[in-house]
Amino acid sequence: MYNNIVTFIQETFATKEFIPLHAPLFIGNEKKYLMDCIDSTFVSSVGAYVDRFEKEFAQTVGSRYAIATVNGTAALHVSLVLMGVKRDDEVLTQPLSFIATCNAISYCGAKPIFIDVDRDTLGLSPKALEDFLITHAEIKENQCINKTTGKVISVCVPMHTFGHPCRIDEIKAICEAWHIALVEDAAESLGSYYQGKHTGTFGKVGAFSFNGNKIITSGGGGVIVTDDEVLAKRAKHITTTAKIPHKWEFVHDEIGFNYRLPNLNAALLVAQLEQLKNFLENKRALAKIYEAFFASQNMAFIKEPKEASSNYWLNGVILENKEQRDAFLEYTNSNGVMSRPIWTLMNKLEMFKTCQCADISNAMYLEERVVNIPSSVRA
Ligand SMILES: *Cc1c(COP(=O)(O)O)cnc(C)c1O
Repeated sequence: MYNNIVTFIQETFATKEFIPLHAPLFIGNEKKYLMDCIDSTFVSSVGAYVDRFEKEFAQTVGSRYAIATVNGTAALHVSLVLMGVKRDDEVLTQPLSFIATCNAISYCGAKPIFIDVDRDTLGLSPKALEDFLITHAEIKENQCINKTTGKVISVCVPMHTFGHPCRIDEIKAICEAWHIALVEDAAESLGSYYQGKHTGTFGKVGAFSFNGNKIITSGGGGVIVTDDEVLAKRAKHITTTAKIPHKWEFVHDEIGFNYRLPNLNAALLVAQLEQLKNFLENKRALAKIYEAFFASQNMAFIKEPKEASSNYWLNGVILENKEQRDAFLEYTNSNGVMSRPIWTLMNKLEMFKTCQCADISNAMYLEERVVNIPSSVRA
């Protein structure tokens, strides 16, 4: 039953060899900039490529500031620190996400609260968010307090799953009404827009990732974006060991992090960013091809939500049930076409089992049915 899918994907990628889910492509100035970086000897955490990347990335997404970090998890962690997340605080997020979101929350000593996603966007549901707050929260002295636990709900972290923007405008309005800071996990959504505005720029801060499987990569890397000058300066300070600038003295004014992106990785990123527009066109064209094919098969291909333009980072299909999903994964992976299920829900993992969890029926529905299929840029 799935053999025509395998054949179609092989034709689409013009190969009978193994087809990975998402492979990076280095066909621009990567080698040139890397050699330049090595020749300069500035390979580490200070260098022209870091500054250049930060400037060009901020321009790309339309934010005032961008601060490069060693990976996306570090970018998320620092974003939460910037928003003042403290030990024993609570942070609202979706159970359907990569582990990095909950790890970053945990590094602050805070706990996630799990709120459902929408079935069409796969991202945090504003309706579910508001329902939870109305039932479980109250505002006291300009803080949002969880009536069940008595803890402060300081931040909300929605995630733009597979690059598809969630209803971020509605989420932003709810967060504002409830005195909750908005941090966007935009790790997967570079090149995705909601109502014409780039994802990651709706909240006070947004975090992106440049891991090897993302739309552009530096091997590992991340970035924090913000329009707030004070936050941007503080982000730079605490990601670089919180050292007070001085010609020779080592004075650090707080416990900082060594989260700075090496210049070598930044060199790679500057070259990758130059190709983003082409990568996006290529990936959106692939999604169109998949969309037509899966429509002909009567299968539910995941399309960009209304009012959104998605980078289609990872293409996905929603199968009828878990049995079909398992059969799909088994057949494709045994026949040279890589596919993967969506993540195990965070609330099921040992570390987060005791965290508060709202009704998450959409997340549970999707967990059993969603598979990702090959989505690389086709050279
Ligand atoms: C990739 C990713 C991150 C960041 O991962 P790193 O490997 O640390 O760069 C964060 N959140 C989500 C949802 C991701 O997919």
